[in-house]
Amino acid sequence: MSPLRKIFGAPHRYIQGPDALDELGKVAATFGPSPVVIADAFILEKMGSRIETILREAELTPVIRAFGGEITYAAIDALEESLDGAVPGVAIGIGGGKSLDAAKGLALKLDIDVITVPTIASNDSPTSASIAMYDDHHVMISVDRLKRSPEAVIVDTNLIAAAPALFLRAGIGDALSKKFEADACLAGTGITPFGTRPLLTGIVIADACYRVLRQHSAAALQSVERGEVSEALEATVEAVILMSGLGFENGGLSLSHSLTRGLVKARGAKNAIHGQHVAWGVLVQLAAEGRPDAELVDMIAFHRSLELATTLQQLGMENPTGPEIAEIADWTTTAPHLKNLPFAITAADVAAAINRVERLAA
Ligand SMILES: [Zn+2]
Repeated sequence: MSPLRKIFGAPHRYIQGPDALDELGKVAATFGPSPVVIADAFILEKMGSRIETILREAELTPVIRAFGGEITYAAIDALEESLDGAVPGVAIGIGGGKSLDAAKGLALKLDIDVITVPTIASNDSPTSASIAMYDDHHVMISVDRLKRSPEAVIVDTNLIAAAPALFLRAGIGDALSKKFEADACLAGTGITPFGTRPLLTGIVIADACYRVLRQHSAAALQSVERGEVSEALEATVEAVILMSGLGFENGGLSLSHSLTRGLVKARGAKNAIHGQHVAWGVLVQLAAEGRPDAELVDMIAFHRSLELATTLQQLGMENPTGPEIAEIADWTTTAPHLKNLPFAITAADVAAAINRVERLAA
C-alpha cells in the first residue's frame, strides 16, 4: 500500500450507558426482520427472555443460538449449518469474548454486518474488526479481519458494573498499552491493522485513553466492587472498549501485545487473562525502550494500585528461570507486531527488558 494512504476504521455506532441494551431492537431493526443472536449459554439463562423481548418489541423474529467453546472454523461452520440455509440480516454477539468473536466469524462467512454487545469489559475486541481464531487445542492460529468494522457496539454499563471486577481490571490492562504501542508505531515505520501508517487520530485517541485510565480507573474498579455504575466507570468503560479499540486499529500495536505470544505458552502464566498479560507487557515495553528507572517505577506503582501484574510470578509463573524467560523472549520475536517498533530488537534484548522489570518490581 502507498505509504501516503491512510485508512480510518471504526464502528458505525457506539452506544454506552445504563440499560443501553434496550437500544438493541432499534439498531438491529435496520438489518431486516430476523437477526441471529449468538450468546453465551449462561447469558441466555440469565437474560435470554429480556433479549428476546427487546427484539420482538422492535418487530423482529430473532434466531437465537447459544455458543460455548473455542472459536474454530468448524464451530463457525456449525453455526452456519444450524441456520438451515437462512441468511440473517445481521449477527448479534452478546456475552464475553467468545460469543462476540463467534458472531464476527459468522458475519465474515455470510458477508453480513455484526452488532457486538459485550457483557464484560475485559478487552477492546467488541470495537475492533479482528477475530482471534483457534485450533482444537486452544492455540491461536490466526487473527482474521472483518471486511467492515462492527456496525454497532452496545455497552450496557449496568451489566459491566454487575460483572466481577477482574474483567474490568483486565480491560484496563489491555487498554493501558495502546498509547505506548501506537507511539512506537508512529516513531518508526509501523503500520496499523488496516495496513497503513498510524493516523494522528489514532495517536490522539490512544493518548486520551491512557489519560482517562490514569484518572478514573481506580475509582471505576471500586464502583464495580460495589456493583454500581459511576461517572468513573462510564469514563473507564469508554476508554477500555472504544478508545482502546480505535487507538490500536488506527494507531497500531507493537511490543506489549507481541509479548502475549510468549505468555500464552509460558508455564503458569499461560492461564492469566489477556489484559494482565498486556499490562505486564507495558512494563517490558517501557524497559525495552530504555526509559529511565523512575518512569518504570511510577508505572509499576500504578499497576500495583490497580492489582495489575508487575512480575511473571503475579502472572502465575512461580520462580521463572533464565531459560524460561529466554523462551518467552524467543516466542515474542515471532509476533508480526514486533517490526512496528522503531528500533531493531533481538530475543536477547527482550529477555534483558523482562529481567529489568523483574528486578525493578521485586
Ligand atoms: Zn489486546
